[in-house]
Amino acid sequence: MSNKIIFATTNEGKMKEIRMILADLGMEILSLKDLNINVDIEEDGKTFEENAIIKAKAICELTGEMVLADDSGLEVDYMDKAPGVYSARYLGEDTPYSVKNQTIIDNLKDAKGEERSARFVCAIAAAFPDGRVLTTEATIEGYIGYEEKGTNGFGYDPLLYVPEYDMTTGQMDSAMKNKISHRGKALELMKEKLGYENINC
Ligand code: IMP
Repeated sequence: MSNKIIFATTNEGKMKEIRMILADLGMEILSLKDLNINVDIEEDGKTFEENAIIKAKAICELTGEMVLADDSGLEVDYMDKAPGVYSARYLGEDTPYSVKNQTIIDNLKDAKGEERSARFVCAIAAAFPDGRVLTTEATIEGYIGYEEKGTNGFGYDPLLYVPEYDMTTGQMDSAMKNKISHRGKALELMKEKLGYENINC
């Protein structure tokens, strides 16, 4: 088995977490940046799972290697689950997250208590050169805060308040977030599906 895994993303925030979560595999995790792959993949799926499969398959076809991909985002119930699969593109790809986050807080100005429920969702897809595809999905549930809190993580992290821990994912250190996050849980499920656990025994 190759000691490298290709992860089809250019998102640095995600890559940092993915490298930590997969560190126990003892394999080198290569991003598209590491491989100098600069392709525009049209993420026109309607679900996180569809988009993860689109990305993994596209890079698998390009490299001829097994490829993992993540598609993730924030679902805000009060906004009919927006921004959802459009999380990266919400209000424009280059708009600062301070603006995106404040807009969501403003949208929820009349929402109280349970009406503020929201979650991060992460779908992971593994695409193999023989055409096989495996997928996993997980969430972390919480509420949209009344203001941004925390400077850790990336994207919408300062927005999602997780009541069990009395903090936002942006206030968690990376080890803690990775243990309970949508991405951490979906990747652990994928490790199980891929059978890497046995390899590490
Ligand atoms: P994707 O590259 O299309 O999967 O975009 C995912 C987007 O969802 C990111 O750019 C963030 O805006 C948001 N997102 C996903 N996971 C997280 C997270 O763990 N924290 C904060 N924002 C996230």
